[in-house]
Amino acid sequence: MTKFVTESAISPVLLGKYEPVIGLEVHAQLLTKTKIFCGCSTRFGDPPNSNVCPVCLGLPGTLPVLNKRAVEMGIRAALALNCTVHDHSRFARKNYFYPDLPKGYQISQYELPLATGGWVEIEHDGKTKRVGITRLHLEEDAGKSLHDGFPHSNEKTYVDFNRCGTPLSEIVSEPDMRSPDEAYAYLTTLRQILLYTGVSDCNMEEGSLRCDANVSVRPRGANEFGTKVEVKNLNSFRYLAKALEFEIERHIGILESGGRISQETRLWNQAAGRTDPMRSKEKAHDYRYFPEPDLLPVHIGDQWRESVRSSLPELPAAKRARFVSDLAVTRYDAEVLTDSHSLANYFESVVKAGVPGKAAANWMQTELLRRLNDSGREITASPVSPGALAELVALVESGKITAAVGKKVFATMFETARSAAEIVAAGGLGAQVADDAIEQAAREIISKNPDNVAKFKSGNEGVFKFFVGQVMKATRGQASPQAVNDIVRRLLS
Ligand SMILES: [Zn+2]
Repeated sequence: MTKFVTESAISPVLLGKYEPVIGLEVHAQLLTKTKIFCGCSTRFGDPPNSNVCPVCLGLPGTLPVLNKRAVEMGIRAALALNCTVHDHSRFARKNYFYPDLPKGYQISQYELPLATGGWVEIEHDGKTKRVGITRLHLEEDAGKSLHDGFPHSNEKTYVDFNRCGTPLSEIVSEPDMRSPDEAYAYLTTLRQILLYTGVSDCNMEEGSLRCDANVSVRPRGANEFGTKVEVKNLNSFRYLAKALEFEIERHIGILESGGRISQETRLWNQAAGRTDPMRSKEKAHDYRYFPEPDLLPVHIGDQWRESVRSSLPELPAAKRARFVSDLAVTRYDAEVLTDSHSLANYFESVVKAGVPGKAAANWMQTELLRRLNDSGREITASPVSPGALAELVALVESGKITAAVGKKVFATMFETARSAAEIVAAGGLGAQVADDAIEQAAREIISKNPDNVAKFKSGNEGVFKFFVGQVMKATRGQASPQAVNDIVRRLLS
């Protein structure tokens, strides 16, 4: 797992005096083919203003129709995040003016959100911590203002309405995080759950996952929260950690010099490496929320909720626990192997093909993942199938080839997609060292170590490994371990 370790310009003593309080608001684009209130495509990257219609352009006289699939995706996310999905929820109008919002209001949920009261467990510094989820609601996205790349960009702003009406789920956490690292771990965990459940592709570069942070600091031990600031535009995991770190230090600096924090919204400025004020913090009443009159309330019965629940896959945390308890891999292995659903599936297929869990985990991490990483490929594009890897590992485990030869064979498999058996047969790799040569080496080692021979003869079975190891070394790891075992045992008895 990637861990982000933050560095601070403020002395640890000063940092230690204060406790950061962080909550995140995450917008995840739901993986539907069409928009939330019309039939326009949600495809990313199409020519500007090609996926629009009178509804998502907000033309007078049009009426929204709720996309059932978007609601289902929202329920799916909410259940995976341990939220209560309410029987009744309602859409509301959030009124504000912006050029990329043609209706002059956004359809969102306010008083009656789809779901509330959930939690996720994050792991940080070897500890597990529960972070509360306040609410998950559905809303439509706005369009996009484009400030460069067009003929008159220096004097005009262009607007692309393709994104207008794209379904989003907004996931608001409790202010439960106490460091940028915890916020990073939370976003990582959340993203993994949304990916596993197929709710969102979470592509941050395409804006499918966006994050705003609420941050404040308070003297350590205090119960009251400090004045919070909202930081927007955190479009990567790295920006999130950097912006939080900057903001925490800024707050401490102001408080230490006797100043007051003003409640406001700030923007992360990546180029300058700082947050800049954007506007004073707007309050809910600024938006003049009222129930959306053009949409019926949303009713979700037990039947629908439970059918969505039963369609949920095994979630990453449960999978990790099962890998450790049933497949005897380490906690670390389990973390690596559950990084994505596809990777976990690959691992399970190797195990199903008869390879012990730990061996499968080792081969995947040392050989497969390294080579995939070096060649910039995903597990789904692996030239070596789980079955082919299992076949190779079986050759090594049975002693037909050595681990060193196995690694060479794997390299060829990765490049040519040929099977291990084929490569071994073609290259004569199965019999790198003739039995005569093994026997000669074994005789020499036995004659040089009379003490150990005596120990073995008096019943010290552990010494046997010493002889095998020495013979393997003498044959530079090219001999078949099975043959070495057999020959050494024969000579010693
Ligand atoms: Zn439309």
